[in-house]
Amino acid sequence: MYDLVIKNGLVYSEESFQKKHVYIANGKIADISSADYPAKTSIDVSGLEVLPGIIDPHVHFALDLGTISSKDDFLTGSIAAAYGGVTTIIDFLDPTADSVSVEKAYHKRLKEAQTSCIDFTFHATIKAPKNNLEAYVKTVKTLGLHSIKFFTTYSESHRKTSDEAIKKLLTLSKKYNLLLLGHIENDALIHHDERFTYRDLKTSRPSVAETVEALKMVEYLKHSDGKLYMVHVSSGKTLEAIIETGRSLLGKQLFLESCPQYFTFTDKILDSSQGALYTFAPPVRSQAEQDLLFKYQSYLHTFATDHCAFNKEDKQAEKLSDIPLGIGSIEHSFGIMRYHFGEHVINRMSKSVATLFQLKQKGSIAIGNDADIHVFDPTPHTIQSHHGGTNYTPYIGVKSAGQTVHTLVRGQFVIKNKKLIKHRGKLIRSDYNG
Ligand SMILES: [Zn+2]
Repeated sequence: MYDLVIKNGLVYSEESFQKKHVYIANGKIADISSADYPAKTSIDVSGLEVLPGIIDPHVHFALDLGTISSKDDFLTGSIAAAYGGVTTIIDFLDPTADSVSVEKAYHKRLKEAQTSCIDFTFHATIKAPKNNLEAYVKTVKTLGLHSIKFFTTYSESHRKTSDEAIKKLLTLSKKYNLLLLGHIENDALIHHDERFTYRDLKTSRPSVAETVEALKMVEYLKHSDGKLYMVHVSSGKTLEAIIETGRSLLGKQLFLESCPQYFTFTDKILDSSQGALYTFAPPVRSQAEQDLLFKYQSYLHTFATDHCAFNKEDKQAEKLSDIPLGIGSIEHSFGIMRYHFGEHVINRMSKSVATLFQLKQKGSIAIGNDADIHVFDPTPHTIQSHHGGTNYTPYIGVKSAGQTVHTLVRGQFVIKNKKLIKHRGKLIRSDYNG
């Protein structure tokens, strides 16, 4: 007998909707059928969509910024995530420069993540590496991780990775079947000035910094067979320039991510008295750049959030350099992107992410996969509230395609009828025998 049947929903499987029952046994999807079989528990979801659980590959829970930590930790952040149908997140290890430190960072983060209600894994984060990149890469793979993030900026906090090291990492990404993540902004084009306030964020981090550095990466990729995933593409100008010069790399060597904030807000918001609540990096862009992002959105491979949430008070510092950058988006991400682009976003927030980051048995409703399921009520509405650990969300008043009714992780309810049920997430490893 099956453990659970989710009955009469519109099931999204193999890129189309069909009215079916989804049968679950031992945390896995055991059958998808129109036939009635016995199950210990049954839940009727007539009129609702049964979608694969969302996988958010860009999340910063409890991010330590030295003087302050981001306010959603693995518990409150994963609760907010579950309320948005997210069943797996990929967070980041603290930045490290060598193979001994990356292993320590892994064990530290693994401890911190134990409170997560949903499944999780990590990207390693490399900073200013000096030598023996190969040992670093091998260690990351041995730890069961599939990706390493580097920064082309933040030299002031010693996180910038040199061009020489990036080129070596690209070569190693091929050799060890690993995905490199790049935070791509040209360091020299970012301006720091102690007189800057939040209103100056767009001057401090202009979009040309993103575009120029992205084009450099395109050139590096043309001369290597490595793989690069560019996080948080913020400007449509950058996207247009990448398509013009690197179209043949897209989906093969170069993968592009964007986030709901770049489709929702423009730089006008920084001129308002509430502008500080909308500060993140890369920042909001002009209306014209956002229009281009909409125009070329089909070239984006994934939608993630860069979730890094703070309280209102944390954002009130007078100087830009004292404001922690980041906002929380994880709960509303799917509803907003779905509102804009319809069902075309489903795979880009589930299956494509699972494939890119080699999360086996995740990302689609298919027999044998983990029963990570997002039951969604597709009735458009305006966002009025949020969950999680912070005292504001910038998304109040924004349009959403609907609401999460149930979220299941490996067959267990985390959200049932819009109410939280306690659950324990687990670490997902990508296997490597080196
Ligand atoms: Zn980030």
